[in-house]
Amino acid sequence: VTDAPRVRLKAGREKPARDGHPWVFSGAVERVLGDPGPGALVRVEDPAGRFLGWGHYSPVSQIRVRVLERHEERVPDAAWLRGRIGEAVARRAPLPGEPEGACRLVFSEADLLPGLVVDRYAGWLVVQLLTAGMDRLRGTIVDALRDLLAPAGILERGDDGHRGLEGLPPAGGLLAGSAPPGPVAIRDGRLRFAVDLGAGQKTGFYLDQRENRPAVAALAPGRRVLDAFCYTGAFAAHAAAAGAASLLLLDSSAEALRVAEGNLAANGLAGTPRETRCADAFGELRRLRDQGRLFDLVVLDPPKLAPTRAKAQQAARAYKDANLFAMRLLAPDGILATFSCSGGVDAAFFREIVRWAAIDAGREVQVVRALGASPDHPVRIAFPESEYLTGLLLRVL
Ligand code: SAH
Repeated sequence: VTDAPRVRLKAGREKPARDGHPWVFSGAVERVLGDPGPGALVRVEDPAGRFLGWGHYSPVSQIRVRVLERHEERVPDAAWLRGRIGEAVARRAPLPGEPEGACRLVFSEADLLPGLVVDRYAGWLVVQLLTAGMDRLRGTIVDALRDLLAPAGILERGDDGHRGLEGLPPAGGLLAGSAPPGPVAIRDGRLRFAVDLGAGQKTGFYLDQRENRPAVAALAPGRRVLDAFCYTGAFAAHAAAAGAASLLLLDSSAEALRVAEGNLAANGLAGTPRETRCADAFGELRRLRDQGRLFDLVVLDPPKLAPTRAKAQQAARAYKDANLFAMRLLAPDGILATFSCSGGVDAAFFREIVRWAAIDAGREVQVVRALGASPDHPVRIAFPESEYLTGLLLRVL
């Protein structure tokens, strides 16, 4: 591999790579020595030709190289890849041991495997290959996962645009073993949920919210709960199990709401008084206010409104409005659990947005606790982009 193509960085542009950030942007590249194809292994070097890292090359993405390895002697071959996947899986122990367990086993750059996401849903694995480099290694990855975990099946899921940025076609389908005969039953805390691995959002379930649901549910007893952007109702179900007085489930997806009904029933929670509304949440939160409705606990978990930093300002307005509308629906001393899963909105900016909402709502707001993604979605210090989910548990006086 000493003849691997080399990507030499411009003088003054090598610091991020030297400090361990895994992205090398096209603007930092002085020249490419050799002719790497999409996904090829390249040697990233400083202006003097000194080694900085091994990475995957992408001729079309603005992120020209994703650095995989910073030790020159550890060349990323098939054995290296197996080893690194094994290490990521081992860090999740003992979680993967539960038969109905669900968790993220590999989280891309945060697990030193840029472009590879692996989620486990009971006996099945769902894989996302988000870079040209990982796309080329599909076979090696599947073999490694079979050897390590012996799953009943491995499915591939598309994504929200990452593959397109790498010049890759949409992906999906069964990679190994057999597809589940129907929705897969998984355990999330004390409750069970049905997850459609073929058609659900993301890879099927929002695993990153696992620890936040019991945290919110602990404040739910006796409260009227509004679960806005509820998807398959996981927050609502935990709140109901904890003794919520009533539920309102709100989402724009009729299918998600149908699955949510099934999840409540499957957990013996169909007795909790509830309403479901299939609508645009921004409009519906206003309408609920016009109807004079009040709640004691609101969960606000919108989709990614700012995928990049460039979209953050525009998204800030939408986040502010949603939080303002939610605060107006809260009875005095109500609880608001509010989230952003936008990589472009960091925790400090999100708190600022919520402060604007509080000003406009004319309410005093206390932070009960700051929330983030569960530990199977690690935050890598050298890669701040991995801290994409931020949340606040608030008391709205
Ligand atoms: N809280 C959920 C995850 C929410 S994901 C959980 O814990 O599982 C975001 C949800 O917002 C998705 O279900 C999506 O269907 C929904 N959504 C997206 N845009 C919306 C809109 N404008 N109004 C209402 N729901 C919307």
